[in-house]
Amino acid sequence: MREDYQAFIGLEVHIHLLTATKAFCSCRSAFGDEPNSNVCPVCMGYPGAMPALNAEALRIGAVVARALHCELSAETRFERKQYFYPDMPKNYQISQFASPLGVGGWVDVPAPGASGTPRGAAIRRIRIKECHLEEDAGKMIHSGDVTLVDYNRAGAPLLEIVTEPDFETGAEAEAYLQQLRRTVRYLGACDGNMEEGSMRCDANVSVNRRGAGLGQKVEIKNLNSSRFVRLGLDYEIARQVELVEGGGTVRQETRLWNENRDRTEVMRVKEDSHDYRFFPEPDLPAVGLDAAFLAEVEAALVEPPFDRERRLEADYGLDRERASSICEERAFADYYEAAVAEARRLGVGAGPAAERTAAWMAGDLRRALRAAGLGAAEVGSLGMPAERLAAVVALVDSGRVSATVARKVFDAALGEGVEPEDVVRERGWELVFDPAAIAAAADAALAAEGAALAEAAAALAAGDEGRVRRLSGYLVGKAIAASGGTADPSAVKAAVEARLAAASKAL
Ligand code: ADP
Ligand code: ZN
Ligand code: MG
Repeated sequence: MREDYQAFIGLEVHIHLLTATKAFCSCRSAFGDEPNSNVCPVCMGYPGAMPALNAEALRIGAVVARALHCELSAETRFERKQYFYPDMPKNYQISQFASPLGVGGWVDVPAPGASGTPRGAAIRRIRIKECHLEEDAGKMIHSGDVTLVDYNRAGAPLLEIVTEPDFETGAEAEAYLQQLRRTVRYLGACDGNMEEGSMRCDANVSVNRRGAGLGQKVEIKNLNSSRFVRLGLDYEIARQVELVEGGGTVRQETRLWNENRDRTEVMRVKEDSHDYRFFPEPDLPAVGLDAAFLAEVEAALVEPPFDRERRLEADYGLDRERASSICEERAFADYYEAAVAEARRLGVGAGPAAERTAAWMAGDLRRALRAAGLGAAEVGSLGMPAERLAAVVALVDSGRVSATVARKVFDAALGEGVEPEDVVRERGWELVFDPAAIAAAADAALAAEGAALAEAAAALAAGDEGRVRRLSGYLVGKAIAASGGTADPSAVKAAVEARLAAASKAL
């Protein structure tokens, strides 16, 4: 982007609220059902059919609005937004215009490229203009010469989250979307699935000479992944700058992202909001939000992922990358904190408990999840409760098992569902410090490795240190193996070195 230009981006994100039924009728709201099986006179717009607000949609919408620090309107109303489109049987959409559910919020997002920067730095605060409830339209499926319409989605509850034009680059918009997705998943408000359309984003973008304020905005639709949002915006910013530089003017229009050609294309010259002829929905009363409702909403707020990530950095000493990977899903972060707490209860120090648990989760636990075809959100179904991982961490920390044995313990705990303590005791996997046992393991290994022993003794006599180190490492490995992996490595090393010295002297 040229230094003398500035871009302004505002996003409108629609999220599908995870309710059992639609926004204004009792039809089932679900993705993937038999087409047109979840419809009724209300969502099909039959004359005389009366809508009734789904209280669950209102509650979940309010929870998201509060999580984004919006103020809830004391009284919220609905309007009809008039337009004709084949996927909308009523010819209007019930939406909110004059008194949205929530207004005036904000959300902090990490500024892109912020990894590696000092903690707490590079945060961008994005203002949320409003959050309003509305209903979804049906879905059109274009197939050859005909277009099919599935009305199962018509009337499903949406929350539209509108930001102020606070982003400057496609990468910032992408970071916001990823964070919003995590947030609504943490809240259990939406599954955040952009491919299935449960989270959709329209992007508004304008450019102007730096310092001259907002330019003429263009809206981009059809951005069905956060990557496309970034690519579409960066393309559009470059297009607008070039247009203005060439003496042209940007037209107010709606463009579509064409993912096959990596460019935006004109869809229509955009209508203004007065074209929609908003008017109050006569069939729905205004909704007053009472104290009991507000208390319920506040109680449903969970620590947002962004805050949790910062807290994990501060309280557990994790670096940003690790904290962000642990906070990817709420269940995964819960698992981490439970495991660390349990490890500490078992006597592990705060630092090692935090660090080792994170390392196990990034390594063996992630691998196990992948092997089981599970995501981080499903860590609870893996068959490795947080307490069990903590027991493995405690075993290693106490020095009672070696790192190699610890992984065997982890595998047994996971595969056989046994307790780490029991495995170690029953299978004799505890590290052995007993001098007689160490001597026996060293003797057995050296007896079986006569050639290596002779070579090492000669190298020691000749003062060839590198060679001595290599051969003695080899012999120590053999001795530990002879003990079944349980002999304490440093004791074995001392025993092997003493025998080498004696053999060298005897040459
Ligand atoms: P409309 O009435 O066209 O829907 P809104 O004022 O509701 O416009 O804004 C829709 C979105 O467009 C918001 O996210 C807002 O931040 C963004 N937006 C508004 N004006 C501009 C502009 N000049 N440049 C970039 N984005 C803008
Ligand atoms: Zn219905
Ligand atoms: Mg608008």
